[in-house]
Amino acid sequence: MAGSKFAYVKNFELPDPLLPGTFIIIRLDGHAFHRFSDVHSFQKPNDERALMLMDRAARAIMEEYKDAVLAFGESDEYSFLLRRSTSLYNRRHAKILTTLTSLFTARYLYHWSDFFPNTPLQYPPTFDGRIVLYPSEKEVRDYFAWRQADTHINNLYNTAFWSLVQQGGQSTKEAHETLRGTISSQKHELLFSRFGINYGTLSERFRKGSVLIREQDNAGTRVLEKAAKKTKAASPIILCHCDIITAEFWSIRPYLLE
Ligand code: ATP
Ligand code: ATP
Ligand code: MG
Ligand code: MG
Ligand code: MG
Ligand code: MG
Repeated sequence: MAGSKFAYVKNFELPDPLLPGTFIIIRLDGHAFHRFSDVHSFQKPNDERALMLMDRAARAIMEEYKDAVLAFGESDEYSFLLRRSTSLYNRRHAKILTTLTSLFTARYLYHWSDFFPNTPLQYPPTFDGRIVLYPSEKEVRDYFAWRQADTHINNLYNTAFWSLVQQGGQSTKEAHETLRGTISSQKHELLFSRFGINYGTLSERFRKGSVLIREQDNAGTRVLEKAAKKTKAASPIILCHCDIITAEFWSIRPYLLE
């Protein structure tokens, strides 16, 4: 069928395939959430409702896209790993990135009142997104280790910072000053000696972030998903706040990196 004489403009749309056989990681991050969290009075250093809402939106991505096998979230960001063999949208970069970012954002808004029943949205939040390709298992594992190590560093700092402000009576400027140049063990010590906080006993969600895993038993994912469909209750997608830096996390789930 011949198009109109205008149809040639379609030829200006260039293909944007992602390299075959590589792991695709998509990282979404809240736009200006420093402000968004302020305006919506997030509890500091960690608003658990906001983290659970992020987990909910991320779960929707995992449910919609079966090739998303693993996700990791902290603060206002979430990373998703797609199987290296995925042919999702023929591996078109923009199609994958825009649909996932859009779905995540839509779900974040859709579920807002489930987690913030008494906090009306003042304005609609948005997310940015990027895709990074990794050639081998090592980089994928190191990528997730990098994000989880970041969670730890930020949370330790933020916990010490907000203790100084909320309980220690310091201004934010003074708290930054107090913490400048301190190493990890000094922050642990400060938390314990001044505020009686044993960092290791704080919520794992705060210390380790959120991990969504598409679980598989020996019989394979398909079986689990079928069972999940039948019962409608069980889900092959598991949320935990576990250590993903250790080799064991990966060695007991080889299918994540297939
Ligand atoms: P950008 O648009 O560049 O990402 P940003 O303001 O979103 O800017 P980030 O580095 O992404 O900056 O940091 C997100 C900020 O959002 C955190 O520093 C924190 O202040 C706030 N925030 C996000 N989630 C939570 C939460 N669950 N509880 C409390 N504060 C949060
Ligand atoms: P894809 O996800 O590939 O874009 P699609 O189903 O969205 O698939 P499109 O080619 O974008 O396919 O077409 C959008 C379709 O949505 C139209 O064909 C039409 O059926 C429907 N649609 C969109 N807007 C309207 C509207 N205002 N009134 C009626 N139908 C609409
Ligand atoms: Mg940023
Ligand atoms: Mg942000
Ligand atoms: Mg962020
Ligand atoms: Mg369409």
